[in-house]
Amino acid sequence: MAKHTVLIVEDERDIQELVQYNLQKEGYRVVTASTGEDGLKLAREKSPNLLILDLMLPGIDGREVCRKLKQDPETSKIGIIMLTAKGEESDIVVGLEIGADDYLTKPFSPKVLLARIRALLRRLEDKAEMPVQQVAEVVEIHDIVIHPGRREVLVQGLPVELTATEFGLLQYLARRPGWVFTRQQILNAVRGDEVIVTDRAVDVQVVGLRKKLGEAGDYIETVRGVGYRFRE
Ligand code: CA
Repeated sequence: MAKHTVLIVEDERDIQELVQYNLQKEGYRVVTASTGEDGLKLAREKSPNLLILDLMLPGIDGREVCRKLKQDPETSKIGIIMLTAKGEESDIVVGLEIGADDYLTKPFSPKVLLARIRALLRRLEDKAEMPVQQVAEVVEIHDIVIHPGRREVLVQGLPVELTATEFGLLQYLARRPGWVFTRQQILNAVRGDEVIVTDRAVDVQVVGLRKKLGEAGDYIETVRGVGYRFRE
């Protein structure tokens, strides 16, 4: 396996060292920065595969760093995992909307962080390899099978009738189990027959979808103050 480079941007020394130690132990190449400015500079110079980005930084904060990197085609493909303070749901929402790929709230366990890093690297590699064909690929998760080509959903082998919007919503979430999406991201991604234009409309669609899926509807989990995710 090629060695991946991870850039840690975190001003709290203890956390920076803890993350660095755990990543190096797993064989990652690690670069560290303590300010947003240095983080941006190193992201451009060292082309890391992934950034562990604290939101609260002196000077340019994590949001701004994330925005700048995701806007620049040179750095937009770098995966970003944000670190946020517990309870700062609005930070999470904004972070995901400006392009962060995942987030962790402090305090977090190194084991969870490593699992998230592995998952994100895998996802980034999949994306780089085959972006278009994958969309037509059948999704099988838990007891649900989604056939995009046939626009068909089977739950425990039985077909479930969904509207185009519900189908899109289910497919969008189920393709990335465990990933949290904000209502705005869902709005942008899902375009069906019905026009859904507000956050509230997303909630309504989710309620309808859950009902049609029966027990399998529980796989669509509400992440309080943030959005929705499909259970892993
Ligand atoms: Ca900080």
